[in-house]
Amino acid sequence: MYVKLSDKESYGWGESLIAGSGIIGAYSSIIRELIKPLIEEKYNIRSPFEFEEVFEKIMFSAGNCGIVTGAISAVEMAMWGLKARKMKIPLYELFGGKIKDYVKVYGSFPRFSKIDDLIKAVEFTVNKGFDFIKLHQPPSTTLEAVKAVRERFKEIKIAVDLNSPFDLSEAKNFADKIARYEVEWIEEPLWPPNDYFALEKLTKVSPVPIAAGENEYTLYGFRKLLESGVSYIQPDVAKIGGISKFLKVLDLASSYGVKVAPHDRPDSSIVSLIYTLNLALTRNEIKIVEYPISDLPKDLFNEPTFEKGYVRPPENIEINNSILNKYSYINRIRVLHFSDLNDKLIKYG
Ligand SMILES: [Mg+2]
Repeated sequence: MYVKLSDKESYGWGESLIAGSGIIGAYSSIIRELIKPLIEEKYNIRSPFEFEEVFEKIMFSAGNCGIVTGAISAVEMAMWGLKARKMKIPLYELFGGKIKDYVKVYGSFPRFSKIDDLIKAVEFTVNKGFDFIKLHQPPSTTLEAVKAVRERFKEIKIAVDLNSPFDLSEAKNFADKIARYEVEWIEEPLWPPNDYFALEKLTKVSPVPIAAGENEYTLYGFRKLLESGVSYIQPDVAKIGGISKFLKVLDLASSYGVKVAPHDRPDSSIVSLIYTLNLALTRNEIKIVEYPISDLPKDLFNEPTFEKGYVRPPENIEINNSILNKYSYINRIRVLHFSDLNDKLIKYG
């Protein structure tokens, strides 16, 4: 597939190698629906001398995510759902049988621009029954946010998710400073998140456990991550290729004695969340699962039962098709909120 890029003065040609047969539509829609609006509208890039970094970030947040593995995940997962229904058994039976009735979950926070709002949200979440939360504050104000939360809530467990802002020395510095607030883990402190070499150096000196893995897609990648000495890996069943791959990642984690804290996008990944919770019922490697702090749409899904930081998932996925329109997909451009990307792109806007 050829692409022509032009401005008023000149033009350039490019080519995609269409890997796989008959999926040219996927390539052209990625260009039309993601890359073109991003460079033209969102970041207003007008010069061929200033886009290199943008492409690097798009590559990681959308490119390496692997549309093919993502697409396979959905179909593969549905196969398991279908199989369980045909056999008239719960998903957890299909995954090997449950060894517990409830799964420990943590409340995964959205990003708050004001610390006061964050504190109110923590209060709401703790009152709801969570005793473990994860913050997604901007890296530049995470220390301040954790300090404020820790001062008011002495008993809860806190993890922080940085979404890959730092180089190695910045990450070391951050880990040293946040250690005093007793956090459970620092998630994806390094850019790029799969710089295994830097991760290994960090895990050797960090006083706080390191977690990573939501940007891994291959068993080889997970093995490198495990070799780097991280304390938690965080595979996402909806990204890596489905349940079978996920089970292999669990086996791999088990052989390294590393804990698994599966990733999901808390407010919008309800189907994969229910699969993940059913998997967690059957496997000891999964210590805790990411969970939304807001209520799930009860009218759309058969809800998991939440009580005091633990969840009992439904035995298979039910979706109320009749109201799907109410929750129809809103097509909007977004790259992951990597903080350094946002900061650096402001100058292009
Ligand atoms: Mg994360």
